[in-house]
Amino acid sequence: MITTHNLGFPRIGAKRELKFAVEKYWRGKLTESELQRLVTTLRQKHWQQQDNIDWIPVGDFSFYDQVLDASFILGNVPTRTNIDLHTELDAYFRVARGRSVGDTEASSIAASEMTKWFDTNYHYLVPEFSSTTEFKLQADRLLAQIDEALQLRDTIKPVIIGPLTYLWLGKSLDRTQPLDLLNKILPVYNELLELLFKRGIQWVQIDEPILATDLSAEWCEAFKNTYSRFSKNRPRILLASYFGQLRENLDWACELPVDGLHLDVSVSNSDVAQAIELLPADMILSLGVISGRNVWKSDLNTLLDWLEPIASRLQSRLWIAPSCSLLHVPVDLSNEEKIDREIAPWLAFAVQKLDELNILATALNDGRQAVADKLKDNAEAIAARTNSPRTRNLDVQQRVKDISADDTQRQSPFPARSIEQRQKLNLPIFPTTTIGSFPQTDEIRRTRRQFKSGNMPEPDYLKKMRSEIADCIKRQEQLGLDVLVHGEAERNDMVEYFGEQLIGCTFTEYGWVQSYGSRCVKPPIIYGDISRRQAMTVGWTEYAQSLTDKPVKGMLTGPVTILNWSFVRDDQPRQTTCAQLALAIRDEVLDLERVGINIIQIDEPAIREGLPLRHRDASAYLEWAIGCFRLAANGVRDETQIHTHMCYSEFNEIIQSITEMDADVITIEASRSNMELVNAFVDFEYPNDIGPGVYDIHSPNIPSTDQMVDRLQMVSEHLPQERLWVNPDCGLKTRKWDEVSPAIENMVTAASILRNLVAVN
Ligand code: GLN
Ligand code: ZN
Repeated sequence: MITTHNLGFPRIGAKRELKFAVEKYWRGKLTESELQRLVTTLRQKHWQQQDNIDWIPVGDFSFYDQVLDASFILGNVPTRTNIDLHTELDAYFRVARGRSVGDTEASSIAASEMTKWFDTNYHYLVPEFSSTTEFKLQADRLLAQIDEALQLRDTIKPVIIGPLTYLWLGKSLDRTQPLDLLNKILPVYNELLELLFKRGIQWVQIDEPILATDLSAEWCEAFKNTYSRFSKNRPRILLASYFGQLRENLDWACELPVDGLHLDVSVSNSDVAQAIELLPADMILSLGVISGRNVWKSDLNTLLDWLEPIASRLQSRLWIAPSCSLLHVPVDLSNEEKIDREIAPWLAFAVQKLDELNILATALNDGRQAVADKLKDNAEAIAARTNSPRTRNLDVQQRVKDISADDTQRQSPFPARSIEQRQKLNLPIFPTTTIGSFPQTDEIRRTRRQFKSGNMPEPDYLKKMRSEIADCIKRQEQLGLDVLVHGEAERNDMVEYFGEQLIGCTFTEYGWVQSYGSRCVKPPIIYGDISRRQAMTVGWTEYAQSLTDKPVKGMLTGPVTILNWSFVRDDQPRQTTCAQLALAIRDEVLDLERVGINIIQIDEPAIREGLPLRHRDASAYLEWAIGCFRLAANGVRDETQIHTHMCYSEFNEIIQSITEMDADVITIEASRSNMELVNAFVDFEYPNDIGPGVYDIHSPNIPSTDQMVDRLQMVSEHLPQERLWVNPDCGLKTRKWDEVSPAIENMVTAASILRNLVAVN
């Protein structure tokens, strides 16, 4: 018999029940026991939705983040938390977000750092280590969930993050090397394994996704040492890797003394033949055949063609599963009532993916005829998608084929075109600008909602939005900014706004995916060749420019960011889809230029996060990603100034590629890291203009003029001042006007102080 299992289920709830419950708790509108009752119901529901699977995960539920859960289970809680003063849950939320219910500004603490979970769009809370770090098992919350699940069924599989991945994800506050902590952490894992064993748990899933990354010899050794030192009194271990192939890590991973190995075969199955040869004869091989990263229905018949010979060879040693936790996909397609009728049958969310798994297992165990109808339906859906004219636009395909090197090239190199831009724009030294969005007031959000739900006629909507733009322009003029923006009032989200207007993209009503904590995103679904129906931003920008003599900067989201923040079709290379997006944005850029917009910003905050996990795959990605940005940006005349913006980025690794983007101006997040992020640009001698953010927009605090003067002086010691811009870290849409106005006023004053200093010297 072939066994099915699941690695993790989305916890946020099909209608974001978890989000609303914890936010209510934070506002003090729900007691802890009410919250606990709510999430218990939610967990039960999720287990029931996995009824058709042999082994279901427990411990995949989290109030905020699974890595933070691991920190609590291991007793590695930052000392600033003062855990004794709070319930465990409040201590947990304080570490996660700085405060919990009842905390004030004064009683809050520094939240843990957050960063991307491998190459996904999910953010985890970074564990902190130092030489004084001690671990102590605190498994009560996990054990309670296990008991809860055991009341429903026996075949449950607790999920824990493995010790190596846990250490690898953390950051050291001193010189302690994460691996130095291995001897301290191992006993706690053993204690946990023994506890689970005593409870009668048969299988435990230990997640070690770092197996799919480049590991140094030291880390490989650490794996061997650690896994051979696990207690004998433990459940059987299913070692789970995901997000890529094991490649050179496969040999030794197959020799680890565990009871099963899970491989992600959703993108490539090139590890499998070797794994079958290498695995000891009593070890389980789990194949992650259903993608946990996208929303497309799997081609079950083709999968069966591949799986059947493997199944007949491995027999009951074969397990099948989704490739990774289903955390990264929406919950249930059957909630979608308004979804595009033709496209819906092409899709599978978490619940549907588990159905697919079940069909595969039945076919493998009882023969395809046992699920003949379902396989036929599946084949029809796959064929419908393949043959649908909606996925194809021959003109767009031809345009992609016709792209030439010339299309990605500016007319002249930066030094020459920058002279023309200076003449045209006539800006002072240290020009001031913002990143695009201004506060999204309740009024703005209400207007958008009313229009979208059909409760406001279009002319009224246009009028309202125009008055928001006019207000925004007036405020910017009063504040004395040099380069203005229209304010982005019409945008709910920088990707969704464009996705909604592009042909080849569709949207769901409940296709939410957890991004971090209670924050969810609803990624567009790119199903077909991309093209523009009509100009997407020109009307707003042109109107804004008509109100002022100052230059208004047009504001676009770049192709790579749209790609990386969407569910992307899997029937052609990502780079082809990205090139199509680039062409659409290029058309928009040229339209803006045509109506007299002289500065155009193309945001690319997500370039860095698309970087493959393996070093040797990085250059190919960067080459096409940068090429697509250049294709979008570089059709303009010399005198048109192209800006780009990036945030949340570690720039060091990709600084060469950022330079190759060849934007005239790049604005980056810098003040939050106290200008540290600028170093990459200094060291690399970044050749074009740069605006290192001097105002941390993530904080409600208003930066003082002095502070910003200091920051500017700090960078102007290392970068030529005639190439410096003055701007905030990022967009201001989450802030209030009474924070933004004084902050920008101080920023403008800071710029003028610097100008005076230049004039004097
Ligand atoms: N232009 C966008 C804004 O100002 C940029 C947002 C971002 O970088 N994430 O909101
Ligand atoms: Zn930003």
